[in-house]
Formats: sequence, structure tokens, C-alpha cells
Amino acid sequence: MIAPKEPHEFGGVGGLGGVGGAAPYKPAGFLVPEGPVGVLAIQGSFELHLATLRRLGVRSRPVRKPVDLEGLSALILPGGESTVMSLLMQKYSLFEPVRKLGEKGLPMLGTCAGAILLGHGEGIPQRLELAPVELQRNAYGTQVDSFTATLSLKPFSRPFHGIFIRAPRILRLLGPRGPDGGEGRRHRVEAVTLGELHGSPVLVSAGNFLLATFHPELTDDLRIHDYFLRRFVSRKVEEPVLSVGRLAVGR
Ligand code: GLN
Repeated sequence: MIAPKEPHEFGGVGGLGGVGGAAPYKPAGFLVPEGPVGVLAIQGSFELHLATLRRLGVRSRPVRKPVDLEGLSALILPGGESTVMSLLMQKYSLFEPVRKLGEKGLPMLGTCAGAILLGHGEGIPQRLELAPVELQRNAYGTQVDSFTATLSLKPFSRPFHGIFIRAPRILRLLGPRGPDGGEGRRHRVEAVTLGELHGSPVLVSAGNFLLATFHPELTDDLRIHDYFLRRFVSRKVEEPVLSVGRLAVGR
């Protein structure tokens, strides 16, 4: 599905050339951090996220080991199988470095299984618990219960074609103390719903995190990635420098 550009949007389909021939991502009025956008590339639909970034003209890097996290300006956690991704992140010593970078403010986009990993929830897998959002895995049923839906998302004036594959459901947005309401402040960021389906959030922003329970990388519509880059990764020319670009691992 090819979507025309939003009037106020930069990037998007058609504006930056096709795969392989894209001009550098330089939205008017915004400064783009120097570091590439990393895509966790140990399982799942990481190739499609990398292709989407190429189409937008954004420098990207597959992330398979801790050194790949050096100097990133953002990280995408793709859809796939969250249990496998969680186990492999631990096996390849990525779990804690990714959690630390998230806590330090590195912008992160999680789609489907990636959103599961960024949030909280019962049972396996072990999650990063970076975003104050509770998600139930496989909430709509098995693979055959996968579906598509026309979504009305707050950042966009036109509908978005949502592809839900064994998707999680966002059960609730959590307060600063996380799901148990325990002592102390666990989250510094507040979750905001940017789109719903049948009363459940499907797109949520929370500080430096953007969570989608659907798969934008399976469409030709670049608006979610474009929005993530514009709203979370870039900064307006007149704004002071954010500390999120070029973060180093473990510092
Ligand atoms: N059901 C998968 C999980 O729990 C997520 C599916 C997906 O990413 N499309 O990890």
C-alpha cells in the first residue's frame, strides 16, 4: 500500500527516492543525529526495517553484538518471536546494554514482539521493562487469527493500514511505579496513546519509546518510521542539543 505524503510530513513515500537510491534523510527544519539507526537483527523482521530505513535515506546498522550499539542514534526492535529474541539478547550479551541505553534516553521503536520486549507483562519472555506499558502476548489468538485493520492514528491525518500478526494487546498504561505500584519511581516517562483499536491502544509513545502492536515495516507506508525519526530521533533546528545522539555503551 503506497500512501501519499502527509502535508506537514517530511520524508515519506516518493520524497526520498527508492530503495538503494534514496537521498540522505534531511527533513527541512530538523537536524538528524550523526549515528546510524540500529535494528536488532537476531530474529524476526529486521530486514524489512532495514529496507524501510534505506528507503527513507537513513543510515542503518544491523545489531547483533554489543559493539554494534556504539554510536547509534536510535534502535528499532522488530517483530518476530519475543521469547526467542529475549533469550538471544541474553545469549549475545545485548540485553543489559540495550536496557541501559534505553534508560539513558536512546530513542527506541518496538513493533509487535519488539513492543512486548520494551514493556511489562506476565510470564515469559524476560522483558526490558523500559516503557510503562503492560502488554499481553498473543492476545488475539494464534497465527490464523492474524488480521488487518484500518487505523486512525493521532500523528497522521489519513488512516494507516495496520497488519496484526499474533499481536499483543496493550492492557494498560502504567504509572511511574510500574505494574506493582511498589516503592520508588521506576519510570521517568509517561505513556500516551496515539491510536486505538476496539478500545485498546495500538500505538503508544512513552518518553524516548514508541511502541506499535502492528507491523508498519510490512507495508509500503513509511509514516511510522518517518514519525519516529522526526519526533524521537531528530531535533528541531532551534532546539538545544539533546543528549541522545551518539550514546556509548555502558557509560
Ligand atoms: N506473538 C509474538 C510474540 O509473542 C509476536 C508476534 C509478532 O511480532 N508478529 O513474541
